Amino acid sequence: MYKYFLSVKLLILIVGLALLSSCKQPTKNPDKGVSFELNQQRKRTLSEISYQLQLDIPADKFTPINGRVGISVNINSLRDNLIIDFNEDASNLIKIQIDDKEIPYTFFNEHIIIDSEYLKNGLNTVVIDFMAGDLSLNRNEDYLYTLFVPDRAATCFPLFDQPNLKATYEITLTTPVGWEAVSNGAIKEVSAKSGKTEIKFEKTKPISSYLVAFAAGKFNKVSRVVNDRSMTMYYRETDSVKVKRNLDDIFDLHGKSLAWLEDYTGIDYPFDKFDFALIPSFQYGGMEHPGSIFYNESSFFLDEKASINRRMGRASLIAHETAHMWFGDLVTMDWFNDVWMKEVFANFMAAKIVQPSFPEIDHNLRFLLAHYPSAYEVDRSAGANPILQELSNLKNAGSLYGAIIYQKAPIVMRHLERKIGVELVQKG
Ligand SMILES: [Zn+2]
Repeated sequence: MYKYFLSVKLLILIVGLALLSSCKQPTKNPDKGVSFELNQQRKRTLSEISYQLQLDIPADKFTPINGRVGISVNINSLRDNLIIDFNEDASNLIKIQIDDKEIPYTFFNEHIIIDSEYLKNGLNTVVIDFMAGDLSLNRNEDYLYTLFVPDRAATCFPLFDQPNLKATYEITLTTPVGWEAVSNGAIKEVSAKSGKTEIKFEKTKPISSYLVAFAAGKFNKVSRVVNDRSMTMYYRETDSVKVKRNLDDIFDLHGKSLAWLEDYTGIDYPFDKFDFALIPSFQYGGMEHPGSIFYNESSFFLDEKASINRRMGRASLIAHETAHMWFGDLVTMDWFNDVWMKEVFANFMAAKIVQPSFPEIDHNLRFLLAHYPSAYEVDRSAGANPILQELSNLKNAGSLYGAIIYQKAPIVMRHLERKIGVELVQKG
């Protein structure tokens, strides 16, 4: 009886889904951004994705950046057209080739649409020549850096810009002579090329598009070996005394966080190398690009008499971004509606890593003051929403962030640990 009941339900679900998919055709007339339907359709039909991205970065920040991206993708259904995201003007596209032959395409609502007649079942390689969009490249006088979270990679180059289509990236940057560059992969080769420098990075492990990153420009750098792992810090600060005073702490805090997380999770650091870049006036405290964390420089170089709050703030920031290597980068949400999870886990782990080093602080009181008032302020109002929210299009992901994610969800996490126990949470 139970089974019978279930199968009727299943049938209704299948018919319903079939009806729904016949009404919505994300591969014919895609909406702007990445709709949930397009996300699902691509997840079903595309796999084994790899990108070879080349960008030619000129010294002048107003001169366009020319690029070429090779997208290799396994297609398992030719019923649909191939939709590639590119959130720029159609005039930024120069040409598209498959098997060395230029092919026609349609550009509609921030998407490149390639008709299925040019594709085959199995592995396809699409090569696109384009001019990169500047929106997320943060181009300054003598450096630039990317910030692609949550759906901004497509403003720079054509790709499938959704978190559940993890891919490998082989990035090559051509820069003015004298510039440094850092990306998710380690530097593989640096060579001189017609009055410029060409920097090739190693192929990354499979990562989500919002985690792709590079910075290039006039950076200072310093490398250290911590617990047998080599790390390089890129920075712009010119006060060498200030830098020197903080170096030991900065490397030490990263080393401690990595060791703690490897021990707690029982999983080795999941990516190949571990570098970080300190960016003046970076938009956030930090961003967890695997292999290449970007931080706001101002929170790193502290004065001699920095308060305990500032020192703990820096330690927490480092622990938070390092925790993301496991919670967010290795294990990633399928869709951005689950963004709260990676943020809550990163903070939850950061607290465990950092708090024992600051015994003079009442951490429970601090947690209460930092979370409860603002969580209640929203939660008791008519506008309160569940922690897990609906998200119909990735372009609206920014609207998810707020006190429910940042203040209420951590309270729920602490309740969970209190209910089921510290050991069971760790095991989970
Ligand atoms: Zn975070």
